[in-house]
Amino acid sequence: MSRIVYVNGAYVPEEEANVSVFDRGFLFADGVYEVTSVLDGRLVDFDGHAARLARSLGELEMESPASRDELLEIHREIVSRNQVKDGLVYLQVTRGAAADRDFAYPDPEEVSPTIVVFTQSKPGLADAPQSKVGIKVISVPDLRWKRRDIKTVQLLYPSMGKMLAKKDGCDDAWMIEDGLVTEGTSNNAYIVKDGVIVTRNLSNDILHGITRAAVLRFAKEAQMQVQERPFTIEEAQAADEAFITSASTFVMPVVEIDGLELGGGKPGPVATRLREIYLDESRKNTV
Ligand code: PMP
Repeated sequence: MSRIVYVNGAYVPEEEANVSVFDRGFLFADGVYEVTSVLDGRLVDFDGHAARLARSLGELEMESPASRDELLEIHREIVSRNQVKDGLVYLQVTRGAAADRDFAYPDPEEVSPTIVVFTQSKPGLADAPQSKVGIKVISVPDLRWKRRDIKTVQLLYPSMGKMLAKKDGCDDAWMIEDGLVTEGTSNNAYIVKDGVIVTRNLSNDILHGITRAAVLRFAKEAQMQVQERPFTIEEAQAADEAFITSASTFVMPVVEIDGLELGGGKPGPVATRLREIYLDESRKNTV
């Protein structure tokens, strides 16, 4: 069955879902995106994603093509039309298609943004087999631009990082800048030592993960100790356990860093518990 995709106000079969070759998302990566997970047909942390989208658009002086309520309506409609039980909603907004290729932004009065929303069905997303065994990561230099707090579609370097990890028989890469871990290719990075959860503090150096915010809140509510500060890869390798968070993986244990096993190569108790808490609490607040 072909998916139904939302493009600029219309719900169309994916074969008919097109954007212009002059779209600035295509020519300049001049666009931002959000990924919201779906559990039991409902949206996880929708308001967090809508707020971050508004912030990303604002930082790039881009008009929002839809209000929070309109976006929610589109998300619900696309989930329902595609009968997604568990999976993801991908939303992308670009600055639109100007008449010519020009580095300067077009006049927003003349060129309206492009909005595309589609779903990816992932049956059993919350029970991903990887969450039982954990993932392996390598470290790579962080060669991205300096505004990682904006969720842009320029994802080539994270793709390269992912490929380097795959070539090494691993699952993901943690990126290092000035000797310190920034984040994973598409997730925030954490270590746990003597019961203390450590993750890099918020700044322009990392994406402000929506899952990160929720997980840290739940950890504090469960009386766990949290430190928001940078850490080195050596500190990570000497940690008791490690994990990542993102909308699509929730809380995912990390069991190996640059070839060195953590916690005997098995998911640690803190990551396992946080995953349970995150899924339980998130399910209560889906929309
Ligand atoms: N960092 C980066 C670089 C990411 O791409 C993502 C996921 N898009 C995250 C962190 C996690 O963010 P979230 O929890 O909002 O999915």
